[in-house]
Amino acid sequence: GARTRIFSGVQPTGHLTLGNYLGAMRRWAEVDQHRAEALFCVVDLHALTVEHDPARVRRLSRQAATLLLASGLDPELCTVFVQSQVDEHLRLSYLMECTASDGEMRRMIQYKEKAAREQARGGSVRLSLLTYPALMAADILAYGTDEVPVGEDQAQHVELTRDLAVRFNQRYGATFVVPRTVTPPVAARVKNLQDPTSKMGKSQDRTAGVVYLLDEPEAVRKKVTRAVTDSEPDVSYEPERRPGVANLLEVLAACAGGDPERLAAGYDSCGALKKDVAEAVVEMLRPVQERHAELAAEPGLVDAVLLAGAERARGLARPRVDAAFEAVGL
Ligand code: ADP
Repeated sequence: GARTRIFSGVQPTGHLTLGNYLGAMRRWAEVDQHRAEALFCVVDLHALTVEHDPARVRRLSRQAATLLLASGLDPELCTVFVQSQVDEHLRLSYLMECTASDGEMRRMIQYKEKAAREQARGGSVRLSLLTYPALMAADILAYGTDEVPVGEDQAQHVELTRDLAVRFNQRYGATFVVPRTVTPPVAARVKNLQDPTSKMGKSQDRTAGVVYLLDEPEAVRKKVTRAVTDSEPDVSYEPERRPGVANLLEVLAACAGGDPERLAAGYDSCGALKKDVAEAVVEMLRPVQERHAELAAEPGLVDAVLLAGAERARGLARPRVDAAFEAVGL
């Protein structure tokens, strides 16, 4: 039969983080591209849902694409491309807006959080922030995707995508594959080191608690050393009661292998734990940063990969999106 199809993406709304890597990107490179027909996308249209600077979005898109390749995605094995270069996403997005209800969009946690943040900054909330999940559903459904490997924060959006696929198929006839979410066993939600109850996000204000993939080793060490834990002297894995310590243990488990609970038994102070976490992160990032530097010096190569990726993606998406237009009566 046909190979499993995988789709996932990353937004160029800021510099990519350790959360993006552990929650999603690493698995794409190590596992997904080898076992499935996989597409990985820099979802630049999504970056326009909040206040943005055009030059910065362009620069961050390029950097994100370069980091995807640096993290090990191999264009011989998978398809790497930029969302805005494939019109099918926008075409299908409108059909998804016509399938979704206003209420289910407003219920999305990410919408509520980001809308509150924009309002707190005194800005207005873009309509596209509300309709974001319709575009994300289009991203996924256009490719007949079976699996969507993402961090936990995206699970609600994939759930909505499933609902929309089922609803569309019921109304207009079998058109879309109903995809399922795949999240990593540990570090599915890496927390901000300064605020371990909220996720480590690339567009957050508390940047001292965010490790970026291109951070210098010294910056990583400093951020990890200053991570907020608690006043207890020992180390134990209790995510509810001790979120800061649990987050460090999860990051260590994800970087160096092992199980957070068992790792906890090997430490009698948070200081020692932080030291090992910092080194594990630095070691994990080193090859990614080296490869990034090589690729950044060869912009023509990245361009060629993205051009070929977009062409391939378009070829895969077009027949299904055409079929969806036909199905709704257009
Ligand atoms: P961001 O919140 O950084 O803008 P994106 O929406 O670009 O994230 O998501 C890219 C991928 O990274 C998604 O699969 C998302 O679930 C994952 N991800 C983002 N932040 C984290 C985190 N803190 N922990 C785990 N996974 C994350």
